[in-house]
Amino acid sequence: MARTLDQLVFNNSFSQLPASFYTAVTPQPLNDPFLVSFNPHVCQLLELNTKDVATDRFAQIFTGNLPHPSFTPLAMKYTGHQFGQYNPDLGDGRGVLLGEVVTSSGAKWDLHLKGSGLTPYSRQGDGRAVLRSSIREYLASAAMAGLGIKTTHALAILSSTTPVYREKVEQGATLIRVAESHIRFGHFEYLFYTQKHGDLKLLADYVIEHHFPDLQTHPAPYAAMYQNIIELTATLIADWQSVGFAHGVMNTDNMSILGLTFDYGPYGFLDDYNPNYICNHSDYSGRYAFNQQPSIALWNLAALGYALSPLIESDAANAILDTFEPQLQTAYSKNMRAKLGLITYNDQDGYLFKNLFNCLTALQLDYTLFFRTLSAISVTDIASNTTALLAASSTNKYHSNENQAQLATWLTQYQQRVIQELDETNISSSDAERLTKMLATNPKFILRNYLAQLAIQEAEQGDYSRIESLMEVLTSPFDEHQNYQAMAQLPPEWGKTLTISCSS
Ligand code: AMP
Ligand code: MG
Ligand code: MG
Repeated sequence: MARTLDQLVFNNSFSQLPASFYTAVTPQPLNDPFLVSFNPHVCQLLELNTKDVATDRFAQIFTGNLPHPSFTPLAMKYTGHQFGQYNPDLGDGRGVLLGEVVTSSGAKWDLHLKGSGLTPYSRQGDGRAVLRSSIREYLASAAMAGLGIKTTHALAILSSTTPVYREKVEQGATLIRVAESHIRFGHFEYLFYTQKHGDLKLLADYVIEHHFPDLQTHPAPYAAMYQNIIELTATLIADWQSVGFAHGVMNTDNMSILGLTFDYGPYGFLDDYNPNYICNHSDYSGRYAFNQQPSIALWNLAALGYALSPLIESDAANAILDTFEPQLQTAYSKNMRAKLGLITYNDQDGYLFKNLFNCLTALQLDYTLFFRTLSAISVTDIASNTTALLAASSTNKYHSNENQAQLATWLTQYQQRVIQELDETNISSSDAERLTKMLATNPKFILRNYLAQLAIQEAEQGDYSRIESLMEVLTSPFDEHQNYQAMAQLPPEWGKTLTISCSS
């Protein structure tokens, strides 16, 4: 089934859209290109032979040194709201859509090259990406996919000897991004704000044809498309909130119409649970803080709805937008119940979650390790495990009595809820089942900031081995991976306070 790069079938449909949608751009070469890492799972998505990826020709093609006959490289034009302000000048400023691969099953995958040089939308930027930020995106997309959260993918990282100037001189690199679509909310905003309403309809028709084909016969296809985007976004945000992922730059140009996690910049996974966590150090007001993500998603969806106003009557659009919050709430509660190994719905669960979050916040417990540890405690032992849970999810040995008592109270409450659920069944066998499910829901491994940082520092010295070991655990983060215990430990103190540069 696997094909060589030359055997892949392309259908570059975006390049057939009107000229105002994009500018054809040739990638600018990087010097002495070489492969840093590739993801075999993404090769599988594309049905691409892994042997082909490790060739010099591959490195030459994907760093702009050699053309490829099936590519139609183009920089997409979009606009968007950045930190709440409309910016008309956006677009692919350092990337190009190379083309769309069609697999034997008919699946369509965009190949996008990030870091390929100047485009008409580069503004003051240099069109480049550095090895550091390419590694961050590469690892995070694999981590999200491993967690079962919708995301763009990264096929490979290629580096070079081309110097790129950020706070210091860094290596110019490219990342090959793979996604069902690279269309953002900002694509619609562009056509709306430039009053190209005929083109806006064309784009909506394109999106429906390629991504929501069932809606082609719908009596109100554009409203239905908006509804679908809202549903996908609600699921995505519920997934981010329950796994502890902060995106960091939720501008409307970084919002995917397919609900994919899109554009990895200064993102962060929570170490200690902190609802106010701000991973982006340029986000002075905390607009994109962890606990703001649901309301920002709503804000962004409202901006999309406004951009779609020539296609959807405003009362209908508002009614659709109103469904976002309840959908998010439902999806989030479902995720949280799964994290706690609960199957049935109980209208008191909101309190159970809230009390738990209060405990995690007060005790500053590691979000991932708390749930992972809880996933190994049988129902009869839950209430007697306060100390063990504290030890597993915090390095602090001096928690106040009051905070410890608060956790003990929550554990008793939780235990009662579990017993209630198991009551009607054979407790011991169903409890074992509950724990198995919890272990498949609560990851052992997440991409902690400090782990990415170590991988970057070593890669900048030419050692890519930590990238490979991280890829191994992150692509199956629920497995034990006994050889990689160190990556599942609490982070060192220095690792919790790393500041991630916004420059990339
Ligand atoms: P981001 O903050 O990553 O979502 O990027 C916002 C905009 O800046 C997009 O239009 C990007 O294409 C553009 N951009 C980011 N970095 C660069 C760069 N180094 N050179 C040119 N454009 C860039
Ligand atoms: Mg972006
Ligand atoms: Mg970016």
